[in-house]
Formats: sequence, C-alpha cells, structure tokens
Amino acid sequence: MTLIIISILFSIINCVPQDDKYESLRKNMVEQQIENRGITNQPTLDAMKKVPRHKFVPPNSIERAYNDRPLPIGYGQTISQPYIVAYMTAAINLKSGQKVLEIGTGSGYQAAVLSEIVDEVYTIEIITELYNSSNKRLDKLKCENVFCRNSDGYFGWEEFAPFDAIVVTAAAEYIPPSLIKQLKDGGKMIIPVGSPYLTQMLVLVEKKGEEIFTTSLLPVRFVPFTRGN
Ligand code: SAH
Repeated sequence: MTLIIISILFSIINCVPQDDKYESLRKNMVEQQIENRGITNQPTLDAMKKVPRHKFVPPNSIERAYNDRPLPIGYGQTISQPYIVAYMTAAINLKSGQKVLEIGTGSGYQAAVLSEIVDEVYTIEIITELYNSSNKRLDKLKCENVFCRNSDGYFGWEEFAPFDAIVVTAAAEYIPPSLIKQLKDGGKMIIPVGSPYLTQMLVLVEKKGEEIFTTSLLPVRFVPFTRGN
C-alpha cells in the first residue's frame, strides 16, 4: 500500500524516472554543454537533468544520445542538439502554472522538457508516423501533462489558446500569424526564421498588447517547417 502511494506521488511530481544508468551522462551533458555555455535558467537545467534523452532516440543512436549534436529520428527529421533545446527553453523564461504550445513534436523530447516546468504542454506534429511514436513514448514515460495532435502547426491549436509561450522547432520562412494570435498578452514565442536548408535565425517574439517585438538571438539550422495539404 505504502509502495503504491509512493509510486503515485513519484509519478505526479516527476514526469519521468531519474534513477537510471544514464543519469551521470545527463549530468555531464547539462554541465559541459549547457551551463558552461552560459545558460543559467534553473528550471531549464533541472528539467534537462531529469528527462531521459536516450529514450527519445532510435535504438541505434542510444549511445550517442547525450552527445553535443542533433540526431536523426527518421522521416528526414532530427531531435535538436541538447544546447539548442536548453537555449530555446531558457529564452522563454517559463514558470509552473503556465500553458505552452510546441510546433514540431518530432521525438517528443522538447515537449517532455517543457512538461517538467509548466502545467500543460500542447504539441503538434505534421508527420503521422512521428505523431504516433512520440504520443506513445510520452504516454509510456507518464508525461501526463503533454497533449499531442497530428496536424499542420501553422494554424496553432485554437481550442486551447491563448498560450503563455510557443516553441517552434522547425524553420519557418516567416512567423505564422495564427501563432502570434494564439499568444497571450505578455507571452513569448521562440522560432527559427529563415530559408529552409540554410542557416536561420532564432527569433524571440514578445507580445505586449497590440504590439509585437522581435529579437534575433542565435544562428541555427533546423529542418523545414512544412505545410499540410
Ligand atoms: N522538437 C523535436 C524536434 C523536431 S524536428 C524534438 O524534440 O525531437 C521538427 C519537427 O517539426 C519534425 O518532426 C517535423 O515533421 C515537424 N514539422 C514540420 N513542419 C510542421 C508543421 N507545419 N506542423 C507541425 N509539425 C511540423
């Protein structure tokens, strides 16, 4: 009985178990690749120390899961480099109680990191196979505050808008207007903007009343933001 209560409490407090053999690799990843490069946002660092990145990569990449690089996840897509996941998460300065929208679920890793910090994560993936696998993976890892959808993220997720923050993990040529619309007053969006297959710029978008402020932060390379039929 006590054991059941403890395990229920554990799954409520943490989205994923921490005590696995990859914990020290993960700690090194956070210290060397993220903190050493100047990221100090504590909720981001804590979340990245918890989420088992090796469970989000294909079996043949498990040993490379904590390396300082993106990795293929099938269908021509990639799981972002750990530093970029941390950088984007830190840039929008999240707090518990908030509701976030992610466009580009991919492996589900970024969604799991967000779910450690905020109350609700809504994530959209356009490729049905990736939607299916990440949805299943997030369920298995008990990320119960992540809600997945298979559609074109260009239109956002009206039903649950407005969002405190929006994270776009595919490179768009411009900022989709519906995403700006679905951002709360005072909300922040982080999005790679630029030509597909070239270097893009990570842009921070801040909505203040009717005004939109953008700041270019970092050159990046993301897979393209594609459009549904
Ligand atoms: N956040 C992911 C990385 C995803 S790579 C992770 O943590 O693993 C970018 C993803 O965006 C790909 O899976 C791609 O299929 C998806 N994508 C591209 N255009 C999209 C669109 N219009 N709507 C939703 N998803 C899109």
